[in-house]
Amino acid sequence: MNRGERLVIVGGGPAGLATARAYRNNGGLAGVTILSAEPYAPYNRPPLTKDFLRGESGRESLPIEAGAWYADNGVELRLSTAVESLDRERAVVETDAGEQFSFDACVLATGSEPVRIPVPGADDPEILVMRTLENSARLRGRVGEGDRAVVVGSGFIGCEAAASLSLRGASVTLVSLEEVPQAERLGGEVGGRIKGWLEGYGVDLRLGTGLEGIERRNGGYSVAVEGGEAIPAGTVLFGTGVKPRLELAEGAGLELDGGVVADSSMRTSAPGVFAVGDIVSAYNESAGRHVSVEHWGDALEHGRVAGTVIAGGEAAWGMAPGFWSTIGERTLKYWAWDGGWDELAFEDRGDSFVVRYGKDGVLVGVLAHGADEDYENGRAPIERGDPFPG
Ligand SMILES: Cc1cc2nc3c(=O)[nH]c(=O)nc-3n(C[C@H](O)[C@H](O)[C@H](O)COP(=O)(O)OP(=O)(O)OC[C@H]3O[C@@H](n4cnc5c(N)ncnc54)[C@H](O)[C@@H]3O)c2cc1C
Repeated sequence: MNRGERLVIVGGGPAGLATARAYRNNGGLAGVTILSAEPYAPYNRPPLTKDFLRGESGRESLPIEAGAWYADNGVELRLSTAVESLDRERAVVETDAGEQFSFDACVLATGSEPVRIPVPGADDPEILVMRTLENSARLRGRVGEGDRAVVVGSGFIGCEAAASLSLRGASVTLVSLEEVPQAERLGGEVGGRIKGWLEGYGVDLRLGTGLEGIERRNGGYSVAVEGGEAIPAGTVLFGTGVKPRLELAEGAGLELDGGVVADSSMRTSAPGVFAVGDIVSAYNESAGRHVSVEHWGDALEHGRVAGTVIAGGEAAWGMAPGFWSTIGERTLKYWAWDGGWDELAFEDRGDSFVVRYGKDGVLVGVLAHGADEDYENGRAPIERGDPFPG
């Protein structure tokens, strides 16, 4: 792309921002516009269930780049601007206010949105979800010392939020269908550790328990769970998963397969249109297949690849996906492909542990708690496809 042309990025999360950053860092001279539905410049989401929720850090620590970065790098940032359609033929995106932006290259980086499980009462807007700064600020404002909260779901969001709210002095009940948190994803041993950590933080666990419905009661809620119990709560938070925002890509007729299908340079089926972050199912050179992940570091890496390629450089996605989760003061770090595992080796080292995951005799994941060296050395063997257990 040349001076006088325009790169339009739809979505102001880490993937969109990293695209703009890499485009400029690789000498791209075209005009760059980021259109973001949110009212804030791109910010860090991971602290929203961790230190920010606990009140240990404030809003000022959240922005990914300082305010001046956008002007200094010639990146126009349009906030509170939701794109409603992408017209491939005319190479134009249109916002919900009817404003049109024509492009020479377009990057879709629309991320994911939380889903609520469909039980009676779940659509009450006062029942909270967790994705944005506003979601976290609202939860933090509502749940403090002595308050009662119910968290639904024992994935990373649910476990992190439950531990953080408990550390704020709240009385927290976590309700989940899983018998052991994240056992299917990470194995029973890791799940057992997570369970122990949550109990240690004082979280009251209702595992293997379905949610039946939520009713407003006495200025708060009554949360009905299997077995006839009704748990009273001032606040209810759903941590019940996300779905990628694919409407724009779908409306534009891009090839989809659970996510927007892209090659390892993040090019979609439409010339000049790229996709990055949570919405993409991109070809990973090391895996030798398309991979979908919802991780912070991979969103940044996708953006790096797309921005470099659009600037005329060479880059391809080949990194193994990686994720960190901090539950209270306990951090898990792992690399893993998205296709699951069929065997694991758990190495207990007392205060720390390392888990290696295998599938069809090949190493597909490494998880470490308190063992940073094993985590750091874990990525390359996964990318090479070393034999399990390595
Ligand atoms: C509370 C929380 C904690 C997390 N913690 C971790 C962690 O510890 N480690 C980890 O690896 N991952 C973590 N994640 C996941 C990680 O944040 C996501 O994988 C990452 O944010 C995805 O980046 P993205 O740029 O694809 O999308 P998003 O961050 O979702 O950003 C998408 C942006 O696009 C905007 N947008 C959407 N549609 C439109 C439209 N039509 N027009 C204009 N703008 C639009 C959205 O408003 C949003 O600003 C966490 C997520 C949450 C919510």
